[in-house]
Amino acid sequence: MTADIPSLVEFRHDLHRHPELGFEESRTKAKVAAVLRDLGLEVHEGVGVVGVLKSGIGNRAIGLRADMDALPIQEQSSHNYVSNNLGVMHACGHDGHTSMLLGAATTLANDPNFDGTVVFIFQPNEELGLGAQAMINEGFLENFPIDEVYAIHNLPGAPLGQVSTRDGLICSSESIFEITISGQGGHASMPQKGRDAITIGAELVNALQTIVSRKLAPGAGAVVSVTEFLSDGQRNVLPGSATLKGDARARSPKDRQDIEKYMRQFAKGIATMHGVSVAFDFNTEFIETINAADPTNGLINTAQSMGLETIPNREPMSFSEDFAHFAAAVPGCFMLLGNGETGAHGQPLHANDYDFNDDLLPIGRDLWVNLVRERLPKVDR
Ligand SMILES: [Zn+2]
Ligand SMILES: [Zn+2]
Repeated sequence: MTADIPSLVEFRHDLHRHPELGFEESRTKAKVAAVLRDLGLEVHEGVGVVGVLKSGIGNRAIGLRADMDALPIQEQSSHNYVSNNLGVMHACGHDGHTSMLLGAATTLANDPNFDGTVVFIFQPNEELGLGAQAMINEGFLENFPIDEVYAIHNLPGAPLGQVSTRDGLICSSESIFEITISGQGGHASMPQKGRDAITIGAELVNALQTIVSRKLAPGAGAVVSVTEFLSDGQRNVLPGSATLKGDARARSPKDRQDIEKYMRQFAKGIATMHGVSVAFDFNTEFIETINAADPTNGLINTAQSMGLETIPNREPMSFSEDFAHFAAAVPGCFMLLGNGETGAHGQPLHANDYDFNDDLLPIGRDLWVNLVRERLPKVDR
């Protein structure tokens, strides 16, 4: 691949035609690794792909992350590069993120003009929040020591090329929970002989809604949603068992821990009150993504020096990002880049008619390149 725009667009469309789900990105990984090798980078293939580019004698290193996975969504687009894989679609723009970062690798390999090491990170399985940790478990942080780490995510509905980020929390955590109440089934006409799991479960659903409204500070930005309520009852059979499932979001580790604590306390308390047993499971799939001040200010300076519209202190996002694991280990910055406001470019992420904006490819590529040259400046010796 060369750095010119048509080839970046072609590359992106090729990825779009061949989307792959998390941890199944074999074709995408092979294509990414081939480009990096052609450019002369040191390439490491594990669960993801890592390319290393060194220039000069500087010993500082920065990591730039792209994600490669697609979603289990049936695409409903009419463009000529629609997904060939039934039920799988690049509906989050990771095809664009991967292409932008390869564009930056191409430019920097051909004309480095920086001093230090750039680690290009192509992670698998962002969508389920498993890929970054899998790379870390493989020894990423030890094998590729970096001083800073960055990621770009496109933002549909925002003006093309608008850069927005913030110091501190940028994306919420996501935890999923499952609570099973084990009562006593029986005849619907004789409730006194059973312990109806639905009535108890309903009480718990309401109690859980008081965590955000009464236990956390106003404006904490947390969410507790019960999304499933399953029982083994029938029209004339009292349920002996009820399972509540749902999703909780938090904007700080403390709030996340408090949500878990109160959920557990309420579940146990209501179960005890009714003389039934309860099983509680709370699993954090995505931790909070927290930006560090120095890389965030650096990124804002780069974007402003390029003349891009910049929002340096945007509202935090309520969605979650697997990049959180990299940013928890190394000072980092997660930024959003406007994908455009109209048509498929303005459709929400994960919509079946969303599309990454090809006009963003050169903008994102240049943002990466300029960021590298400003964070790893060449010094005259
Ligand atoms: Zn997504
Ligand atoms: Zn995404």
